[in-house]
Amino acid sequence: MKKEFRRRPKEKNTDSLDKLPPFDQLQALLQQGAITCEDIVDRCLHNIAQGAYLNAFLRVYAEEAKQQAATIDQMCQTNNLPELAGMVVGLKDLLCYKDHPVQAASKILRGFVSQFSATAVQRLVDKHAIIVGHQNCDQFGMGSSNEASAFGPVRNALDTTRVPGGSSGGSAVAVQAHMCHVSLGTDTGGSVRQPAAFCGLVGLKPTYARISRHGLIAYASSFDTIGILSRTIQTCATVLEIIAGPDDFDSTVSHRPVPVYTAQLHFDKRAKVAYFPVALEHPGLQPAIRKQTQATLDTLLRAGHQVEAVDFPLLEYALPTYYVLVNAEASANLARFDGVRYGYRSSESITVADMYQKTRTQGFGQEVQRRILTGTFVLSADYYEAWYVKAQQVRRLIKEKLEMIFATYDFIVLPTTPTTAFKIGAYTQDPLAMYLADLYTVPASIAGIPSISIPNGTDENGLPIGLQVMAPAFGEAQLLAFAQYLTLLL
Ligand code: GLN
Repeated sequence: MKKEFRRRPKEKNTDSLDKLPPFDQLQALLQQGAITCEDIVDRCLHNIAQGAYLNAFLRVYAEEAKQQAATIDQMCQTNNLPELAGMVVGLKDLLCYKDHPVQAASKILRGFVSQFSATAVQRLVDKHAIIVGHQNCDQFGMGSSNEASAFGPVRNALDTTRVPGGSSGGSAVAVQAHMCHVSLGTDTGGSVRQPAAFCGLVGLKPTYARISRHGLIAYASSFDTIGILSRTIQTCATVLEIIAGPDDFDSTVSHRPVPVYTAQLHFDKRAKVAYFPVALEHPGLQPAIRKQTQATLDTLLRAGHQVEAVDFPLLEYALPTYYVLVNAEASANLARFDGVRYGYRSSESITVADMYQKTRTQGFGQEVQRRILTGTFVLSADYYEAWYVKAQQVRRLIKEKLEMIFATYDFIVLPTTPTTAFKIGAYTQDPLAMYLADLYTVPASIAGIPSISIPNGTDENGLPIGLQVMAPAFGEAQLLAFAQYLTLLL
C-alpha cells in the first residue's frame, strides 16, 4: 500500500538536542524560579524540530503548549504549583484528545477529530500536564518495530539505522530524545515494554483494568492497556497514580483504591524472585541479553534475595495464543472503520459493496489487513472451536500457572525482548520473525498482570537491554518499588 507522503527531514546529530531536567527535580526548579515552564516547552519544541528525522511526532501542538506553559508560569508566581506543572506529555496516536485529530497512524482515520479526551489524557490535563502532540506508532498498535505506520518508520535516536521497537515507537523515541518527559502509549502485547527496552527507558504496562480505556482506539479489548514511558520510575509512579482508577465511562475498570505509588517507592523486603530457565535458554535469545539477565539474577541473590528457577513450559504457547486471540478481537473491533461513518472513503467505487471493499483495502495497512483476515478466519463457524476456543483455553492455563507462581513468589524476572533494537527493514518481509519480538512480553498481557521494563545495561554494540519484572494483578506498588530498588542496585 502507498505510504502517506511525508518528506524525510535531513538527519542531524542527536547531540544538538537540549536535555530536559528530569521531571522529578523540575518542580523544585520551577518553584525556585530557576527555570520557567516556557523554557521547558521551548526545549521540547526545539528537540522535536531538531529531531524531525526521527519521525517520532505526527502532529505537534506548539502554540497550545506555549500558551499552557505561560499560564503555568503565572500560577507559579502565586506559589500554587499544580501537581503536574512543567510535565510535558506526548500521546500515542491511539489516544483521543478533544478537538485534535487522531488517526491510529493509519490512512483509514484520515481527517478524524476527537470529540472527547481519553480519561487518562483528561486526568493529566486536569493536573496541568502539557500535551505537546500525537506520536507515530504502528497502525492501530499492530507491530513490533514502528515500521507499520502509514507515516513511515520511526528511527531509534541511539542508532538511526535501527528501529525503536513498536508499536509505541514514536512515544519511546520522544522521551529518549528529550521531546517530552512522558509518553502515554498502549500495551496490548508489549508495545510499551518492548520500545522502552530498545530505547533504554522505563516502560510500564499496568494491570488490565487499572486504567480506563475510554478514549483509547481499541485493538484487542481484553488485552489493551494504556502504558507509561518515562526516564525514571518516580515519574512513572507520579503519572500512574493520577491516571489509574474507576471511570464512569469504562465499566471494566477496577474499583480497587489506587495507592499513592510515589509514597511507596522504598523497597526493603527480602524479595522472592522466580525466573524461567526456558526463557533464558531459548535459542532466539541474544547471548548478551542472556548474560546480562543472568548477571542481574546473580546480583539479586548476592544481595540476599531468594532467586529460584521455575518451570514455565507454557512459554512456547504464549505467542500463538496471543496472536489468535488479538487478531480475533481486532477483526471485530476494526469492523467499524468502513468509510461510512468516519475517516477515509475511497472515491473510486460505484456500488456500496465496492465502496466498503476499496475503502478498507486502501485505508488499512498490510499488517492490519493480515490480522483482520486471520482474525475473521479463527472466528469463522468451521474453525472457531479449533482456534479461538482452544486459544481461550490456553489463555486460562497460562493465567492460572502464573497465579500459581505468584502464590509463592513476589516477582518474575525475565528479559523484555529476545534481541536488542534490530535494523530497519530486517523483518518487514517476515511477519513470523517480527512476532518473535513479543516472545517475553505477551505472557503478562495474556494474564492481565502488571509488568515493567527497566534498562539493564547494553550489548556489544552499545544498544540498551531491557529487564522485565512481572508482578501479581494490582501489584503495581510493589512492582514499582522493586523496580526502583533494582535501578539503584544495577
Ligand atoms: N507487537 C504486538 C502486536 O503486534 C504488541 C502490540 C501492542 O502491544 N499494541 O500485537
